[in-house]
Amino acid sequence: NEPLEVVDPEIAEVLKNELGRQRGTLEMIASENFVPRAVLESQGSVLTNKYAEGYPGRRYYGGCEFVDVAEELARERAKSLFGAKYANVQPHSGASANAAVLSAIAEPGDTILGLELAHGGHLTHGMKLNFSGKLYNVVSYGVDPETMRIDMDVVREKAREHKPKVIIAGWSAYPRHLDFAEFRAIADEVGATLWVDMAHFAGLVAAGLHPSPVPHAHVTSSTVHKTIGGPRSGFILTNDLELHKKLNSNVFPGQQGGPLMHVIAAKATAFKLAATDEFKDRQERTISGAKLLGEALTSEASKAAGVDVLTGGTDVHLVLADLRESELDGQQAEDALHAVGITVNRNAVPFDPRPPMVTSGLRIGTPALATRGFGDAEFAEVADIVSLTLQKGADVDALSARVKALADAFPLYPGLEEW
Ligand code: PLP
Repeated sequence: NEPLEVVDPEIAEVLKNELGRQRGTLEMIASENFVPRAVLESQGSVLTNKYAEGYPGRRYYGGCEFVDVAEELARERAKSLFGAKYANVQPHSGASANAAVLSAIAEPGDTILGLELAHGGHLTHGMKLNFSGKLYNVVSYGVDPETMRIDMDVVREKAREHKPKVIIAGWSAYPRHLDFAEFRAIADEVGATLWVDMAHFAGLVAAGLHPSPVPHAHVTSSTVHKTIGGPRSGFILTNDLELHKKLNSNVFPGQQGGPLMHVIAAKATAFKLAATDEFKDRQERTISGAKLLGEALTSEASKAAGVDVLTGGTDVHLVLADLRESELDGQQAEDALHAVGITVNRNAVPFDPRPPMVTSGLRIGTPALATRGFGDAEFAEVADIVSLTLQKGADVDALSARVKALADAFPLYPGLEEW
């Protein structure tokens, strides 16, 4: 029962260094967030010891009376938060949730229609090296080359042409709302199942600041660790009892063995917090911050540096910087921001002329900084720093000092060492 720093000082050092990195830099990776202390407590708890294959009340192991309570709470809270009739909270991750969804609604060889990866789709929506691309016949829709938005007429045409078994709506890098009702109308017209993957924008939906897919989709999947700001994991919602039963058996035993009960308990807490006014306020600051970033990156100075923003702005928690006209490619821009203490990821833009490891874009998100406490004033300052960093002759020392001042003003996990 020795502490980590005694048992394994090398790993203790990793934890210490990572905490220091998170505290000292500004996290703007759109898919990341900071979980609250309460979530860390469950994840680092004795619940990790428990096997609980099956579902509450129907387990294949004894001693599940307490973990059953946690899973029941997580399910009920997920249902209430998103207005869904049924929930499965066992997926270990977004990708596991998606594997279970696809195996429940399609047979290998069936056609699936989703957003192209290079236009903002996700690996699990049909990328050729992913299980989804290997098992299914993948067709995709992209964004319009002029507007950079999804054109529902094109989605309809593709659906009519290919008669997919599944239509997927959802993205990893797209800055606008989707028209879920229209997706459903198209799915109904061609006899497809509509699956919405709301992994990125689920927190905005929970706060009522983004249209909800749940009334429209046959099935909705999500992660918990992006805008929701809970533990790294996934969940699945549906309003259809028969589909729910199928989804359950495709999660366990279809895709997974024992559920991670420590993570499920943490999910329950994340869903509880997501129903609060404080959470709504955080999501409002998240969207407002992204809009400010969009404004800074479409300013005259940014434009003069060849920087622009896809679709001209954002409705959500991220902006996609378009660097096709900039001297900096995605890699160089990511490195330049890293040098001043801001973490982002480079991201291909649709029709990207540069190779995927280099790219001509950046995906920049505001959820983690909103969780840290940033409001409009701080986001305006960050937006200015980002925009200046991407311009010629950026003063790295001065910009780093401004980043440090922001990080210092919003301490992350104060006192964590003493918990
Ligand atoms: N779905 C979408 C739309 C995502 O953006 C992601 C993660 O980036 C996932 C699913 C997968 O989540 P995970 O990384 O937990 O497997």
